[in-house]
Amino acid sequence: MPGIDEQTLARSVAELVRIPSVNPLHAGPRAEEHGPVGESALALRLAERFHTYGADDVILDEVSPGRPNVYARFRGRSERLVAVDVHTDTVTVEHMTDPPFDGRLAEGSVWGRGALDSKATMGVMLSLLDAWHRDGLRPGPTLLLVGSVGEEAGGLLGATRFRPWAEHQRLAIDQMLVAEPTEFRPVHGLKGLVLIDVTVHGAAAHSARPDLGVNAIEAMAPVIAAFAAEHERLQTLPPDTEVGTGTVSVTQISGGTGANVIPDRCAISVGRRIVPGEDPDEVLARMSAIARDACPVPCEVTSLLPPTPDGKAGSPAFYQRPDSGLVRFLADACGTAPAVAPFGTNALRYSGLARELVIFGPGSIEHAHQATERIAVADLVRLAGVLEAWLAPG
Ligand SMILES: [Zn+2]
Repeated sequence: MPGIDEQTLARSVAELVRIPSVNPLHAGPRAEEHGPVGESALALRLAERFHTYGADDVILDEVSPGRPNVYARFRGRSERLVAVDVHTDTVTVEHMTDPPFDGRLAEGSVWGRGALDSKATMGVMLSLLDAWHRDGLRPGPTLLLVGSVGEEAGGLLGATRFRPWAEHQRLAIDQMLVAEPTEFRPVHGLKGLVLIDVTVHGAAAHSARPDLGVNAIEAMAPVIAAFAAEHERLQTLPPDTEVGTGTVSVTQISGGTGANVIPDRCAISVGRRIVPGEDPDEVLARMSAIARDACPVPCEVTSLLPPTPDGKAGSPAFYQRPDSGLVRFLADACGTAPAVAPFGTNALRYSGLARELVIFGPGSIEHAHQATERIAVADLVRLAGVLEAWLAPG
């Protein structure tokens, strides 16, 4: 790509990797060696860089104490508005076998936590903005950069905050890119999630006299079977979109106090992946009804996810048609095919916020969150070319 060499791109990403930004819910002794855990230092550095590169507005928006989102607007040559969301937090470093924050350049890659997920995109954006600023160029569309806290754990806090902020500003976002490792495939669909606990309260008794108690574990058995049957039913439905069908998984169980005691309590966790068109509240109601109908004694159902900004009991799915302009542009520019993905991202908070919304970035999610983390410098070069073609500075 003209103008920016690979060393510059690699150094820019490495600099971000060297600023630890572990999600506070993933704190631990290794993360704490490097000062306060969280996104604050990275957000402040980004704000400073955005100012340096001529941003028209830079806003630090405190999501919770010491955890600011950062927004920067670079006025373009047209009225169109595009947004790029990059989460600033990373997952834990406690299990890493590498120095987590060294940002070293080796084997053609930048190494360290966050290099892949997802500091690569922010690092490349900073290099582009620096080059454009020095050359006196502006992007074609107005560019809004969003550095959002709390994507990796805690309920998409930063995205949950940014959305109402953008709506309050009456921003009409034409195209929005959410940065995640997608191997340069424009991801245009994600399943949403409803997550519940079901708790059965029985009555304890000596296990020699089960007739004197109410066995909570045995009462839960038909509930588990009913959720398995619901999963099977969903698999028979023809999928409406490439996202596929919904699924139900019972993922945790607890209960019982002793080998000779009739258990007075049993609880399970159940995850329901939901597809485009399904309403989280309706799904929650159906899950509750399945549990109550199957359980021979009263049971309690509670939703485990924080409500969405519009009060829904879970995340609706995200879906953008694969023939939309941004999906086609990115697929053509990268020689990749549009795809759907099984993992959650900030895009689950942005449905309907932008006219077009796509999840996109270099590297593979299969390599994220691991004991080592790297992004290939060749991928940074490729990304810079794609972003420059999209943002058309002039
Ligand atoms: Zn990520």
